[in-house]
Amino acid sequence: MGEPGPLRITVLGSGTSVGVPTPGCHCAVCTSQDPRDNRLRPSILLQYGGHNVVIDTTPDFRTQVLSAKLDRLDAVLFTHAHADHIMGLDDVRPFNFRQQTRIPIFASSDTLISIQRVFQYIFECNDHQSSVPQIETHALDGDSFQLFGQPFTPVRLLHGRSSIYGFRFGSAAYLTDHSDIPPESMERLRGLDVLFLDALRHKPHPTHSTVERSIQTVEELAPRRAFFTHICHDLPHEETESTLPSNIRLAYDGLEILVGAAD
Ligand SMILES: [Zn+2]
Ligand SMILES: [Zn+2]
Ligand SMILES: [Zn+2]
Repeated sequence: MGEPGPLRITVLGSGTSVGVPTPGCHCAVCTSQDPRDNRLRPSILLQYGGHNVVIDTTPDFRTQVLSAKLDRLDAVLFTHAHADHIMGLDDVRPFNFRQQTRIPIFASSDTLISIQRVFQYIFECNDHQSSVPQIETHALDGDSFQLFGQPFTPVRLLHGRSSIYGFRFGSAAYLTDHSDIPPESMERLRGLDVLFLDALRHKPHPTHSTVERSIQTVEELAPRRAFFTHICHDLPHEETESTLPSNIRLAYDGLEILVGAAD
């Protein structure tokens, strides 16, 4: 099946859970003048066929949609329920007001259960005196699904001991928080133009991939282009990029990628 026209990815946030600069830290990266060293919490915006889809609603969601000048939100996909990926959900309300519609959200049933617990007030059927997000939940079972004509495939990833979802959409994939990619998921990631993947830092971490580990993943999957994300303050943008193979770059907030384009 063909893809529904061009797909644009905008990086809304490329940072790890505490963001960069990290509060209280005065290291070279946290005090850097390079705007690419300022990293909000991890999320991307997908735009295709006039639709806007966001992966994860971070604690910085409001700032991120203002920066992206987003005036419409059609759906949210969630990778998992860690705070840095869900805490901005309340800020979908302005889109409810503008669009007068519920926003569909897609996640594994485990992630939906956590979202329902954390945001209990959204799901209580009491009459609310103040506004609460109007959302419509869709549980993913690991099978591919269509969203506004674009096929999406959940890609199971290991994030320490938990299992979370990355997503493939056409010839692009977004694999945030992971320490390992199971073999059956690797098979879902062949022939990519664009691959986004977790590369927290150099030092090993129990739930995240490292620069060295993610370089190996890129070598194995051989996408045309790869972008590292979920980056902590250990990695200065310019210096780190100068050590990477030319098909691998560090993502930065505001980076726009046209999937399938010449460069
Ligand atoms: Zn995270
Ligand atoms: Zn720092
Ligand atoms: Zn996480």
